[in-house]
Amino acid sequence: MSNDRTPRRGVLLIVASPSGAGKTSLCRRLMADHGGLELSVSMTTRDIRPGEVAGRDYHFVDHAAFQRGIDADAFLEWADVHGNRYGSPRAPVDKALSEGRDVLFDIDWQGARQIAEKCPGDAVRVFILPPSLEELRRRLVTRSQDADEVIERRIKNAKGEIEHCAEFDYVFVNDDFDRSYAELAHIYHAERSRRFRNTWVEAYREGLLSEDV
Ligand code: GDP
Ligand code: ADP
Ligand code: 5GP
Repeated sequence: MSNDRTPRRGVLLIVASPSGAGKTSLCRRLMADHGGLELSVSMTTRDIRPGEVAGRDYHFVDHAAFQRGIDADAFLEWADVHGNRYGSPRAPVDKALSEGRDVLFDIDWQGARQIAEKCPGDAVRVFILPPSLEELRRRLVTRSQDADEVIERRIKNAKGEIEHCAEFDYVFVNDDFDRSYAELAHIYHAERSRRFRNTWVEAYREGLLSEDV
């Protein structure tokens, strides 16, 4: 009996939230716990923050380079978010999917919508809500990586982003971090197990049925 669990269709797991709700922290932990999951490293025109590493957190580029990416159709999706441009490079996603691997996206609702339209079936959308807008502000302030006016802009934009949570497959509140992380990991595990993604099952079943007992 073969133990081969390939071929399979990969999951495109998309995590979105207003800035400060905790999606980057949750995504980092999911990556740390799942070796087979690949993070889509976005391209952005925003400035690098202290502690961020170019190529790991983002590909930091200027507006001209980002525009060249758009012109070359190099993005699976891209959007203007809080006054900067962000995009998910297409090539690593195509490669991962062709190899049956899963990809994690830490992006905004506009990008989630575009990927769901382009890759129905593969895309799974998760929206993370903050416990309150007051707590969102507190997290952005304690993270202390953005200037005051950037924080104010992000809080102003939060309500408009939260309105879009109805478009998502899964929604939960990031109150207690460990409980929220368990919820995200359960969603990922359940989606991985869906039969239509596990195209190896048919051959496996035939193997079981052909056993002499
Ligand atoms: P940044 O946005 O790039 O600064 O990174 P984060 O703010 O996402 O995370 C900073 C650090 O805090 C990381 O090591 C996280 O794993 C950790 N962290 C984030 N949220 C929580 C939390 O609620 N509880 C605990 N214990 N650690 C957290
Ligand atoms: P986002 O990526 O959505 O902007 P981050 O992951 O950077 O958010 O989180 C924003 C801040 O809130 C960080 O300082 C992080 O440590 C903190 N944080 C995340 N989740 C929780 C939580 N459940 N409880 C308290 N603080 C949290
Ligand atoms: P930050 O500047 O805090 O890293 O990200 C700001 C917002 O842009 C977040 O909502 C983040 O998820 C979103 N974002 C990051 N990368 C991408 C991307 O490639 N595409 C889209 N559409 N949004 C992104």
